[in-house]
Amino acid sequence: MNNMESVPTRDGLDAVPRYAPGRSAAAVDLSDSTNVWGAAPSAVNAIAQAARESWRYPAMYSEPLTSVLGAYHGVSASSVITGCGSDEILRSAFNAYGGPGAVITWMEPTFVMTPVFAALLGLDARPVRMTSERPFDADALLATNAAVTYLCSPNNPTGNLVPRAELLRVIDQARGLVVLDEAYADYSGETLIREAAERPNLVVARTFSKSFGLAGLRVGYGVAHPRLVTAMERARGPYTVNLLAELAASAAITHDVAWMQARVSDAIAMRERLARELEALGFAPFASLANFILVPVKDPARFSAACERRGVLVRAFASLPFVGPAVRIAAAPWDTLQKVVDAARQVGA
Ligand code: PMP
Repeated sequence: MNNMESVPTRDGLDAVPRYAPGRSAAAVDLSDSTNVWGAAPSAVNAIAQAARESWRYPAMYSEPLTSVLGAYHGVSASSVITGCGSDEILRSAFNAYGGPGAVITWMEPTFVMTPVFAALLGLDARPVRMTSERPFDADALLATNAAVTYLCSPNNPTGNLVPRAELLRVIDQARGLVVLDEAYADYSGETLIREAAERPNLVVARTFSKSFGLAGLRVGYGVAHPRLVTAMERARGPYTVNLLAELAASAAITHDVAWMQARVSDAIAMRERLARELEALGFAPFASLANFILVPVKDPARFSAACERRGVLVRAFASLPFVGPAVRIAAAPWDTLQKVVDAARQVGA
């Protein structure tokens, strides 16, 4: 092979996008719904103290962290799987329970990485589009007879909570695995974690990237029956949660739950204030139980550019299924959100 030729990639890889949400170097980044109030303080201390331990490998499957998480949620350590972000929990679950050609379904719009992982793994994607009458359509999801059903509550990017009874109906009747993504559950206060440890077909995915403010460490986890955990760990592989991330996450769960809850309260208060101020300007944000709001706008690029000129990055969606053009804005301290309101006033509803 001469150096002008390139090695061919595997079939289907061209259809998998490289993540490119269109980020610029704005002062405050509200585009990916992190905790802009900061990182859990005990996690920061744990990293400083553990740095000298970096010569050694982490635990293969984060065994000390799985015990801490099990105790926190009242489930056994063997019901907990960790991952490099909850991204890895989703990917491991899809990979363990849906091989190439297997059907996967979800309500759209949802978390952008879900279709990407489905494409990467060669799954047969059968999304169900939200409608005003049915923001969650259990019958349509079940009708796909999917090997993997991905549910997200509160849903990203719409922020809506799926009623517990609806979730349980899908879990009860699904033929295959149900992955319930609870990345924003600390903001809604609703969870099916206890059910996950007992049911034969449910994994609940959680993350340290949002309420605990540890997005940069890339640590997430899932709760499921131990049989499912073992299968997903085989699909995941060892050592994917690094030593510092593992110790930081353990410290945060052990010492900073009250800190996290206070930041969640701040985020909810600011989210609601932002929604009311945008409504007063004629916008109609979606009601949200997460730490962000989705706002339909005429021209997302223009809206986000007006925010960027004020040093704030929001997420522009040119056109979402069901929603159309919109921007997603994370909760933040009010001096930052005031800039978003100023931008919205300038652009107009
Ligand atoms: N699920 C949802 C719904 C998300 O919004 C995100 C982050 N944007 C993730 C999962 C992934 O989070 P992480 O990999 O950082 O844990």
